[in-house]
Amino acid sequence: MILLGSTGSIGCNALEIAQAFHIQVETLVAGKNLALLNQQIATFKPKIVVIADQNDAHKLQANGAKVLFGNQGILEAISLSSSSLVLNALVGFIGLEPTLHSIALGKKVALANKESLVCGGWLIDTSKLIPVDSEHFSLWHLLQNHPLEKLIITASGGAFRDTPIESIPNQNAQNALKHPNWNMGKKITIDSASMVNKLLEILEAYWLFGIQEVDALIERSSIIHGIVGYKDGSMGMHLAHPDMKLAISYALNPNLASQDSLIKPLGFEDFASLKLERIDPRRYPLWELKDTLLANPHLGIILNASNEVAVEGFLEERYLFGKITKAIFKCMDHFSNIPKPQSLMEVLELDREVRKYTQEILLLTS
Ligand code: NDP
Repeated sequence: MILLGSTGSIGCNALEIAQAFHIQVETLVAGKNLALLNQQIATFKPKIVVIADQNDAHKLQANGAKVLFGNQGILEAISLSSSSLVLNALVGFIGLEPTLHSIALGKKVALANKESLVCGGWLIDTSKLIPVDSEHFSLWHLLQNHPLEKLIITASGGAFRDTPIESIPNQNAQNALKHPNWNMGKKITIDSASMVNKLLEILEAYWLFGIQEVDALIERSSIIHGIVGYKDGSMGMHLAHPDMKLAISYALNPNLASQDSLIKPLGFEDFASLKLERIDPRRYPLWELKDTLLANPHLGIILNASNEVAVEGFLEERYLFGKITKAIFKCMDHFSNIPKPQSLMEVLELDREVRKYTQEILLLTS
């Protein structure tokens, strides 16, 4: 397989599965964590390696692999690789072009990078995707041939689910990174605390399954992942311990997933505490954007770009949590009438424009 984002949380889980089931890793793509990438190269002996920055080349122990750099390098590596499966576990907007490029080359894409769908769902042939995001994997698992009415995904509530509401805007990055259930990359952990992650996932579900009736509920233990509502009035739920290995192994090879229990099976004691709660917009003000986004899914580009910029500054401790919310609302308002971009070029241009505007807002707002 071709693994994009090998040094991240999903990437490392995927490599554990690859090692356990002897899946060959032809290409590894990472950003800045060359110490871990060097270990991965030594273990998996890929033919091609891509890193974000050419200036880091001297730190790389390529072990004979062909080395490429930057976003163009990722596209070239996908073209040069013969593997037919790409696991896209990059974080952020940079994942979009590799998804499009892989599909154009006739490859299957196991997609963890939700931003691909949020920012270009209408440009992507979703029949070529295998969802890896846990909630969407669970909906995919549940979907039989019954006519559908509605999809519900669940949220853990993130780091601030029990924090007094009035103090949430003044929280810092250290506190926002304390996720109660999942051990994930920094960006998605912050997005869980702000509920932006669930907004992105609502759009992800819309593009994957073509249904506008999508909602989310809080389930604190992250055991219920997805709920499908059928036209006959009945519902189905998919339950599993929170562990990304299940979704990743289905995406890599469904036969492996059903061979052995890769994750701990649920016991009766796990069911006792299950409870679904509504998402309270006083605690998660950005949740108010859900209906606007579902009515105008292309505005996902605005949400995504403003959020990526605002979260970056928050992680660098330039301001407190409340500023992320303010910046996103301002951007969504400013770009609310923007028409749907018709091509990748237009998507890239709009993304750039929103990022620039967000930087300006962040400098101006207190
Ligand atoms: P991480 O931040 O842990 O990992 C991101 C990966 O992308 C790293 O390997 C990083 O490299 C690489 N990367 C970042 N920028 C570049 C770049 N410019 N060029 C090349 N590589 C780059 O993220 P996660 O694994 O948490 O998430 C990945 C995706 O999966 C996201 O879209 C997330 O929303 C989604 N997802 C994650 C889940 C989870 O459990 N973690 C659950 C469901 C979905 P490096 O670290 O070397 O800089």
